[in-house]
Amino acid sequence: MSQVPDDAHQPDDETAEPGHAPPAAGPQDWSASGFATRAIHAGSEPDPQTGAVVPAVHVATTYAQDGVGGLRAGYEYSRSANPTRDALQECLAALEGGTAGFAFASGLAAEDALLRAVLEPGDHVVIPDDAYGGTFRLFSKVAARWGVEHTAADLSDPAAVAAAMTDRTRLVWCETPTNPLLGVADVAALARTAHERGALLAVDSTFATPYLQQPLSLGADVVVHSTTKYCGGHSDVVGGALVVGDATARGGEPLAELLAFHQNAMGAVAGPFDAWLVLRGLKTLAVRMERHCDSAERVAAHLREHPAVREVLYPGLADHPGHAVAARQMRRFGGMVSVRLADEAAAVAMCGRTRVFTLAESLGGVESLVEHPARMTHASAAGSPLEVPADLVRLSVGLEDVEDLLADLDRALEGAAPAPR
Ligand SMILES: *Cc1c(COP(=O)(O)O)cnc(C)c1O
Repeated sequence: MSQVPDDAHQPDDETAEPGHAPPAAGPQDWSASGFATRAIHAGSEPDPQTGAVVPAVHVATTYAQDGVGGLRAGYEYSRSANPTRDALQECLAALEGGTAGFAFASGLAAEDALLRAVLEPGDHVVIPDDAYGGTFRLFSKVAARWGVEHTAADLSDPAAVAAAMTDRTRLVWCETPTNPLLGVADVAALARTAHERGALLAVDSTFATPYLQQPLSLGADVVVHSTTKYCGGHSDVVGGALVVGDATARGGEPLAELLAFHQNAMGAVAGPFDAWLVLRGLKTLAVRMERHCDSAERVAAHLREHPAVREVLYPGLADHPGHAVAARQMRRFGGMVSVRLADEAAAVAMCGRTRVFTLAESLGGVESLVEHPARMTHASAAGSPLEVPADLVRLSVGLEDVEDLLADLDRALEGAAPAPR
């Protein structure tokens, strides 16, 4: 019997064949690469042990220690840190041009962590007068009970924001474009307004995604995402994220450290499979957003000519009040289009008659969705200054063939009352 040496299949450095370079030491720096390259590679280095090109879903809750406190790669317990969540957080930070990203169980969990990290009872926040309904509910029904006050203002008007600020304003909350009215706020101007009075600027950039705008580069202190929407992109995961640069809060503490502390202390982290799904979604964000924008532009132009449509709200239209600002701070104008019809009955009827657009809440997935904000996503704002018009229909323009989408909208509007402009 011939003796095969134990290490026959394990070439060491001396015997390695040409072309077998040793694994690169540590992750590469992708910061100088383009958006799509960062989306595909940042946080997703091949696994050093196996070469797997996709990060694993690390389901372990705990990690073996080599002697008390001897952590192998800094991992201790998965609420505090988890390798799959870290991969997503690294990618998010790279895409927003930030220093640190934090992934949460939902967009609202991310918002809640941010509020509790930077605010105290007695503090005041300026919020958009057409904020996402859930954001408004968080401020009006939850944060208010803990002594945080808010004033709703038109965020597209920096002077109105300055007028709404008080000596206790610690945070200006901006959403751009807004859900569901597609209002546009000038992030650079708001950053100046907020910083002059010692407040932080948070930007909910869910509609734009990091592909279309990067608020940190415009002066914002923290970016908020519902990754449930375009970042995940397939309507199969609920998640949220915060990304920061090097801003400080509460007497000079780095915001990144405050958020890291609160993410762990409050615990609403993204689970490993959820984090993995969002990371997978991000890899195709650039190509998906290009198609979402192409089709939304076609839908907006088409509906503008339709006699049943009173008004099309889309920042890509030259006569949209926020068009100039959007053209300056966004790469393109996004995949969301809202329309106003003759009245509430016409809006409700249209929502019930589409066949390619699915009647459902949420947005940003591959499939087109239609909804009636006043009765669905924004019902919690009824009777408040944030109430949305009852004749409004919101469209999330998906990735189906655009001809099918246009035909579906025409069919849904057949026989609808003409809406005078
Ligand atoms: C959906 C959404 C949120 C909330 O995110 P969830 O993931 O549903 O908690 C926040 N902001 C905007 C603009 C949204 O569309």
